Amino acid sequence: MDYPGNLFVVAAPSGAGKSSLVKALLELDSHLNVSISHTTRAPRGQEVDGREYHFITEPEFRAMIDHGDFFEWAEVHGNLYGTSRAGIEARMAAGEDVILEIDWQGALQIKKLFPNAVLIFILPPSFEELLQRLRRRGEDGAEVIARRMENARTEVAQARHFDFVIINALFETALFDLKAIVHAQRLKYAAQARSKRAVFEALNLN
Ligand code: GDP
Ligand code: ADP
Ligand code: 5GP
Repeated sequence: MDYPGNLFVVAAPSGAGKSSLVKALLELDSHLNVSISHTTRAPRGQEVDGREYHFITEPEFRAMIDHGDFFEWAEVHGNLYGTSRAGIEARMAAGEDVILEIDWQGALQIKKLFPNAVLIFILPPSFEELLQRLRRRGEDGAEVIARRMENARTEVAQARHFDFVIINALFETALFDLKAIVHAQRLKYAAQARSKRAVFEALNLN
């Protein structure tokens, strides 16, 4: 499928800092639209339905799959997660920039659908630090954390299939790297030709 805007896909093992980085990026960049996924996971303490996720039941999720409502979906850590068409299609059609915060399986599905999508993988500086962050976040029980740590080993091995890799050691450095990727993408010829059409026309470029 052709996509007139920039589509960014960010993946990471749980606890690497993906949500914190994307949240900070969105506060700095008003041209980015984040996709709110559907999930069958239970909400965490501070999470609000329709803000972090659309929280739905498994039968509801299965019905959406059957209706073809998702661009992609995947089972992650025993729960179902998906990117709905309805959530982003209109903004994509309008050529706006969209960012997806999804797991690696979903990222690779999106790349097949939209070959121009920019895939970004966030790595933790080490497995030890990843465990510390999951514990410090204080949102998941020991069993859930153990499962996420176990899955992290196979997840980080997927980074090689992504266009960009950011190591989130120092948060501000990682945020700078993420901004640089978004900025560079917007400077590509096709993106400039779209967003600076008047200049291109004045220069007889197309
Ligand atoms: P986190 O990893 O600590 O942020 O925990 P979450 O429960 O928020 O996310 C669990 C996993 O599901 C992560 O790998 C997310 O990237 C992934 N995920 C979230 N939304 C989606 C989605 O819409 N599609 C897919 N494929 N994965 C998603
Ligand atoms: P993810 O969305 O990838 O699961 P989060 O954004 O929830 O990860 O981050 C996991 C925890 O680590 C949070 O408590 C967050 O505040 C913290 N964190 C994120 N980046 C860093 C960093 N560079 N240094 C230290 N702690 C971090
Ligand atoms: P958490 O439950 O900690 O919020 O997220 C766990 C994982 O699910 C994260 O890796 C997150 O990126 C992923 N995830 C969240 N939403 C989606 C989604 O819509 N699709 C896919 N494939 N993964 C998602």
